Amino acid sequence: MVQWTYTPSRSPPAKVQRRVVQWRKACHAEVAPDRPVVTFTFDDFPKSALNGADIVERYGGRAGFYACTSFVGQRSPVMGEMFDGATLAELRARGHEIGAHTHSHLDCARAGLAKVERDIGENLVALSEIGHHETVSSFAFPYGETSYSAKRWVGDVFATGRGILPGVNVGDCDRSQLRAVELGASAMHRRRALAALKTAIDAKGWLFFFTHDVSRTPTDYGVPADLLEELALRAVEAGAVLATPTFGAVLSGVID
Ligand SMILES: [Zn+2]
Repeated sequence: MVQWTYTPSRSPPAKVQRRVVQWRKACHAEVAPDRPVVTFTFDDFPKSALNGADIVERYGGRAGFYACTSFVGQRSPVMGEMFDGATLAELRARGHEIGAHTHSHLDCARAGLAKVERDIGENLVALSEIGHHETVSSFAFPYGETSYSAKRWVGDVFATGRGILPGVNVGDCDRSQLRAVELGASAMHRRRALAALKTAIDAKGWLFFFTHDVSRTPTDYGVPADLLEELALRAVEAGAVLATPTFGAVLSGVID
């Protein structure tokens, strides 16, 4: 049974652990692109994220899609119809990147390392079973939740791991817990996204945006299409490259 609703612990110890983990870098990397880089990413992910691919492509870019394989072909009561093998094939053909996101949408802060490894392994096997045979080199932690040991392991297996801590990646970063700014429908989301974009342009950094569904009337987890469009336009006008996670890592000098 797919678990559609889960909330990571808000207990004081969990909050302390989250803070400690975010400051303890597992895989140091120097982020220093020649031009600002913006990476739009879609988690889980609902089929409507294809609308996001259309928008990013219109501005000459490509995006990242983190696939949680227990959701394949399901209908989420929260986000609608989820991706399937055909969705992945289409995105691949259009030059977008498919990333890993665990099989069961695992809270990697609560699970032991062995369980994290098994679940991500299952994710990769399931991706190949639905026709994705390419190397998967990017990963995003469900809920952004992680531990130091999980980050180390993710850093060994993938070129990049993405979290959900807001901020722009520039200078000394943790390539297994890259920062990312959430996109949503509220005025606050728009303000924060525009501010982060300005910082990324000014500091010549690498900015990840993350969201789920994309439409004119998104769910609480998704982004309005016009905000995505506005951000892509502004980014490109300011000279940024709209890159997939792994291409973004190359442009930023994080990997060769
Ligand atoms: Zn997720």
